[in-house]
Amino acid sequence: MKKLYGVIGAPIEHSMSPLIHNDAFHQKGYNAHYQAFHVEPKNLKEAVVGMRALGVSGFNVTIPHKEAIIPLLDEVDDAAGRIGAVNTVVNRDGILFGYNTDGRGYVEALKEITSLSNKRILIIGAGGAARAIFYTLAQEEGIQVDLYNRTASKSADLIHEFSLGHLAQTISLDEAIERLGDYDVVVQTTSVGMFPKTDESPVPLKKIKQGAVFSDIIYNPYETKLLKDAKVLGAVTQNGVHMFAYQAALAFEHWTGHLPDTDRMKKLVKEQLGGISC
Ligand code: NAP
Repeated sequence: MKKLYGVIGAPIEHSMSPLIHNDAFHQKGYNAHYQAFHVEPKNLKEAVVGMRALGVSGFNVTIPHKEAIIPLLDEVDDAAGRIGAVNTVVNRDGILFGYNTDGRGYVEALKEITSLSNKRILIIGAGGAARAIFYTLAQEEGIQVDLYNRTASKSADLIHEFSLGHLAQTISLDEAIERLGDYDVVVQTTSVGMFPKTDESPVPLKKIKQGAVFSDIIYNPYETKLLKDAKVLGAVTQNGVHMFAYQAALAFEHWTGHLPDTDRMKKLVKEQLGGISC
């Protein structure tokens, strides 16, 4: 019988997850289908009961349900529990297991373009995605990760919560502008610059480090203003398609035990977005 997978969120109609997962199932020869389901917050509990009753084999969870789904699952892995968000659910014989592939997906993508050892990293933002990325980066040896967020108390809370005071500090916008040239890697995780407000950037760029990596997890637009500005100053840039493909690939691996072709996933998303190289 065909296995059913999916993604729940609201809004969900523009999700590119069905495109890449259905293609990956086809490529790997699985008899499976992946479907997007629009689920409003008030219906989340019933949706999870329905997924279980219908025997859906696994599903992704996106905005706004990543945190709220946790108490509705049977088991949550350690990293997802600490991050406080689940984006991938696996149904094993009726038991629903939750995982978070955002943080690992991001870090795997980043490692494609830079090594992380002895690097100074600045994360811009302290929302849900930043939380997963910060937690995962902090597991790496020998790096320093600073945070700048519009609401400074949120970045300070994050550092305190993960007990990382020894290798992380929160900085202000003025400090971020002045000291940007100290960082080897700048990770942009806010929604600033996202379609349709594509002329916005969370930090104006004065000076950057020679050969610095600028990574933006936004993928619509394909290249944000921050990445465009950084490229002009000589940065190596990476857009959010890379994280998107890797988090999807790791979810696919949780469901099937096999990794799909991430380059093919990136290519499909790029074609869909009409992107240029980034
Ligand atoms: P979130 O939890 O709502 O966090 C939003 C972040 O953006 C917060 O740090 C917030 O700062 C900041 N922000 C929002 N508006 C701002 C403004 N006008 N000026 C300065 N800062 C502002 O959202 P999220 O789930 O982390 O997602 C953030 C972005 O990542 C979205 O664009 C999402 O599409 C993208 N994303 C991409 C992937 C991928 O696979 N590539 C995965 C997940 C998310 P405050 O704390 O001050 O409000």
